Amino acid sequence: MEFVTSIHCIDGRIQEKINKYLKEKYNAKHVDSITEPGPCYTLAAHNDEALIASILRKVDISVYTHGSKVIAVSGHYDCAGNPVSKEEQEEHIKSSLEFLKSIYKDIEIIGFYINDDWEVEEELTI
Ligand SMILES: [Zn+2]
Repeated sequence: MEFVTSIHCIDGRIQEKINKYLKEKYNAKHVDSITEPGPCYTLAAHNDEALIASILRKVDISVYTHGSKVIAVSGHYDCAGNPVSKEEQEEHIKSSLEFLKSIYKDIEIIGFYINDDWEVEEELTI
């Protein structure tokens, strides 16, 4: 696989973990990173349609131009952009997965949480 897509937080503590995880899992050469503060909240809450459109425009390029077949959405411990509990973030991630699946029907959509050891936890599914 050449490219995979990841929608995740701007937080510098998670970038390398996500890249490593996705490259190893999918044997991908590159991770297209779409970063916003706490994006799983944005995709779940739907209270900023302009921001959602901006995110989707970037996902479109990754999927339709780069040919990505996987979109990952994640949340993480101590997130300044989405400062809620792990359980609440996992609900946001699941809602984000459902929203993305409704748009990108033929693409694998996965979610995960990065815990207080800065490790990727078991994946969330819908
Ligand atoms: Zn964050």
